[in-house]
Amino acid sequence: MADILYTYKNSVYANITNKCNCSCTFCIRSQKDGLGSADNLWHEKNPTKDEVLDAIRNYDFSGFDELVFCGYGEPTCALDTLLAAAKLAKEEKGLKTRLNTNGLGNEENGRNIVPELSEVIDSVSISLNAPDAKKYQEVSRPKYDNGFDKMVDFAGKCKDQVKEVKWSIVDVLSEEDIEKCKKLSFNTGIELRIRHFS
Ligand code: SF4
Repeated sequence: MADILYTYKNSVYANITNKCNCSCTFCIRSQKDGLGSADNLWHEKNPTKDEVLDAIRNYDFSGFDELVFCGYGEPTCALDTLLAAAKLAKEEKGLKTRLNTNGLGNEENGRNIVPELSEVIDSVSISLNAPDAKKYQEVSRPKYDNGFDKMVDFAGKCKDQVKEVKWSIVDVLSEEDIEKCKKLSFNTGIELRIRHFS
């Protein structure tokens, strides 16, 4: 049985679904089955909302002040569970909540989900992955057309409503592409975090 909650570095992570609407060329899921304290993050069957809520209720968060939604899948593909779990984490456990996302949740759910997210998520980290639509399509391989524009639009909506919003890229990008990402970050006013590839 796959872990719903696991620790990695200094945070607790919630692995609420294996469903995803991208097929990123670098996805860690194609390299290993687990991460941090979890040997296996592949669910035999995606957990129900109640299973996720029970896992959070019963977890000892001593020493941790944040729950990060980021599993072997895209959390906004299980929006109902994500919203309920984040609400519980805040209200019953007194935790901060962070969502790591590919930024395609509006497309996935057929509506603007940012107002709902903003009620229970303190911080959103969006995978930018590439500096333009063509490269984004090649690297992220989303199910949707115009994925880059949709992700950028989502990021802008988050900036208006969520306390903390960041884009993230990994430093495997070329210098030129990193500069373009920095420019996009500057032009949109959304902070860019450059993670070291590990
Ligand atoms: S969005 Fe995340 S889970 Fe989905 S394929 Fe890309 S890296 Fe993997």
